[in-house]
Amino acid sequence: MEKQYIMSPEIEMKVPLVDLKVQYSLLKDEIDGAIQRVIDNTEFIKGNDLKEFEEEFAKFCGKKFAIGCSSGTTALELAFRVSGISPGDEIITVANTFTATASTIVNVGASPKFIDVDEDTFNMSIGDIEKNISQKTKAIVPVHLYGQPSDMAPIMEIAEKHNLTVIEDCAQAHGAEYEGKRIPVSNIGCFSFYPSKNLGAFGDAGCVVTDDEMKASMASMLLDAGRVRGKKYEHDLVGFNYRMDNIQAAILNVKLKYLQEFNTKRRKNAKLYNDLLSELKGKINLPFEADYSKHVYYVYTIKANDRDKLALFLGQNGITTQIYYPIPLHLQKAYRQLGYKEGDFPVTEKLSKEVLSLPMYPELTEEQIRFVVEKIKSFFSS
Ligand SMILES: *Cc1c(COP(=O)(O)O)cnc(C)c1O
Repeated sequence: MEKQYIMSPEIEMKVPLVDLKVQYSLLKDEIDGAIQRVIDNTEFIKGNDLKEFEEEFAKFCGKKFAIGCSSGTTALELAFRVSGISPGDEIITVANTFTATASTIVNVGASPKFIDVDEDTFNMSIGDIEKNISQKTKAIVPVHLYGQPSDMAPIMEIAEKHNLTVIEDCAQAHGAEYEGKRIPVSNIGCFSFYPSKNLGAFGDAGCVVTDDEMKASMASMLLDAGRVRGKKYEHDLVGFNYRMDNIQAAILNVKLKYLQEFNTKRRKNAKLYNDLLSELKGKINLPFEADYSKHVYYVYTIKANDRDKLALFLGQNGITTQIYYPIPLHLQKAYRQLGYKEGDFPVTEKLSKEVLSLPMYPELTEEQIRFVVEKIKSFFSS
């Protein structure tokens, strides 16, 4: 039965982009208990919670190993290092992503070779991969943007043909599926547990997942001061301190049990948005879910011609929105040394002017979604 949303001037509803407080209030007892346990046993570094999380998250992803680390950024850097990415290498990736996808490539001494994205899925344009492969190309880094997997089958096929490694940036797609199987599809994927992500810690945290035992053990060593396993002051590698705090692992262990449920709620919210917004076809474009994918809606992103005015109008009505991403990486100052210019990636650039992400989180209510939709409709009818 459809509930009628009653527009009343007295009701002032605020709809944030993300609300981490609701989820915490629902899981408060379990999470507080987990944190207190770590404090009581003072197992702050490399504790049992981390070990348990690595086992459970590997299982969740259908991979043999998960290596917890300090952020999604350090996960990417570790994945590149253990995959042998080194100075002079070129890595094919997209400019339509968060900076960490490319900054980590630069920070290991390699160069990102950006390609454009698909207008519907916002992910790597398959047709642009092969023409950008050179003698120096070592890897392809697809980003599963907004929670939707890239089209992995052709990517894997191209990679195999040219003997390239595929490293997946899964930072926005925990639990997303490609052809019925959870990502990553390739041998190595990187996750972020930034608080607002589908699986979020209470601070920074990340993870590398892989089936490759050598890569897993090298990543564990590198992130922990290059230590030989079990030997505190024997260092076989020049390492880093990219460890995940045990307290974060304890929190993630609680939340991991609910991840599927969170994702189901995100998908339900997305469906309600889709249903209610469908009559605005022509004015806005709704997110496209490809046949091969199960999208987990880290964000719910529409395309609108009057994007900036719409965002302003929604903001004035208590609704927070966000643009992922207003400046594509090839036009960011940080990457000017790569020599890209405006016009290089027409789809990416067009998207940066049209995309708008609406409030999305598992606990978003039907009433809130109806309120957002009403406001969007009133913007377009005025
Ligand atoms: C969040 C994110 C990262 C980085 O993760 P952090 O945990 O913030 O370091 C990398 N890539 C993408 C696509 C992301 O969304």
